[in-house]
Amino acid sequence: MSNKTILVLGGGLGGIMAAGSLRRSCAPGHRVVVIERSATFALRMANLWLMTGERQRPEEGERDLSRLAEHGIEWVQAEIESIDPVARAVQTSAGRLEGDYLVIALGADRHPQAVPGFAEAALDLYEAAGALRIRQALERFSGGRVVVLVARTPFSCPSAPYEAAFLVDSLLRRRGVRQGSEIAVYTPEDLPMPVAGPAVGTTLVQMLRERGIEFHAEQIVMKIDPAARRARFELEDTTFDLLIGVPPHRVPQVLRAAKLADASGWVPVDPATLQTRYAGVYAIGDATAIRLPVGMFLPKAGVFADEQARVVAANIAAEIAGKPGTKRFNGHGFCYIEVGDELAAYGAGNFYGIPVPTVDLEPASSRYHREKHELERAAQALWL
Ligand SMILES: Cc1cc2nc3c(=O)[nH]c(=O)nc-3n(C[C@H](O)[C@H](O)[C@H](O)COP(=O)(O)OP(=O)(O)OC[C@H]3O[C@@H](n4cnc5c(N)ncnc54)[C@H](O)[C@@H]3O)c2cc1C
Repeated sequence: MSNKTILVLGGGLGGIMAAGSLRRSCAPGHRVVVIERSATFALRMANLWLMTGERQRPEEGERDLSRLAEHGIEWVQAEIESIDPVARAVQTSAGRLEGDYLVIALGADRHPQAVPGFAEAALDLYEAAGALRIRQALERFSGGRVVVLVARTPFSCPSAPYEAAFLVDSLLRRRGVRQGSEIAVYTPEDLPMPVAGPAVGTTLVQMLRERGIEFHAEQIVMKIDPAARRARFELEDTTFDLLIGVPPHRVPQVLRAAKLADASGWVPVDPATLQTRYAGVYAIGDATAIRLPVGMFLPKAGVFADEQARVVAANIAAEIAGKPGTKRFNGHGFCYIEVGDELAAYGAGNFYGIPVPTVDLEPASSRYHREKHELERAAQALWL
């Protein structure tokens, strides 16, 4: 049996988990190579803690990718410039690389420029620097209108904007300025976390209302006027004193150029094996589009990227060993939803449920809040 090379494109959550699982299940002679432009890895859930001050600096949650070498995983720090899925080759800023398998884990790009005024007016919750700026703004905030704005769907982590609203409420209460403040969420969705079903969505809306947080559904922002502090939607306007934004997401350009994306705008894959339409080429995580039996797409969340990584790794390792790959992604997932006051709710279920996903939401507790922090530590300790 000749030694194989597996190229893992992207060293974010999905890529690191795929590389680690591959390393564990493939014999040492086979090469596992991660191609990632950044020198460090961090879980984005930490942005919420940067926003609240539970975490002071982004570096506290970052891990050096050079540590992959200690596990026998090669890391090429480079920009992926083009992908040839037929040849299973990539052109990078560090040269051309060829593999026997490709695991694409390039995530979603964010495009604040897609909404006029967004980049100038909104503090971007999805960037660590943006989360820090939100914290500074909240520390100075003496009352007024805070708007949490979801610009477009789909976006990564469907619960994050709602968690941000709950956390802002909690912070402003603690600072004694909540009474003179309004908090509102504007989103194109009809309910929070719509794929989880109406029961979860209406419970979350009720939780928002109990805290005096407005929920404005089916709102597509057209433009934002930074000087007037006004956001214009298709049917209404709102003013704001502080705008916390989730920018439009889109598939990385390199995947579009390789014609790996389809009309959905994302990379279609087999829902069980994550294989693309090219043999030996898999895609996992935020870059993918998996249409569910209910007609919507699987949400973009780290918990799915992680499990998909393990499925793909197991099946590649089996194939290399001359056995059939039998592991399947079954659409099960969970998430911790922070609601402020060091509490988190817990949602879990089967997103591949027929005819609809079956997702339950457990009430908020300090235990779930603690578990979320433990999850971050465990995920990082695995390979970095
Ligand atoms: C604020 C926030 C909170 C979140 N909280 C949770 C949570 O509590 N639970 C949960 O399950 N999920 C959460 N998520 C979602 C989770 O972070 C993503 O779903 C997950 O990171 C997706 O993994 P991925 O590997 O697909 O993409 P990513 O982790 O984004 O990794 C993609 C990688 O590819 C690299 N890359 C892209 N293009 C190139 C290129 N051309 N060349 C080289 N490298 C490239 C990028 O630098 C990046 O490192 C949260 C997200 C945010 C923003």
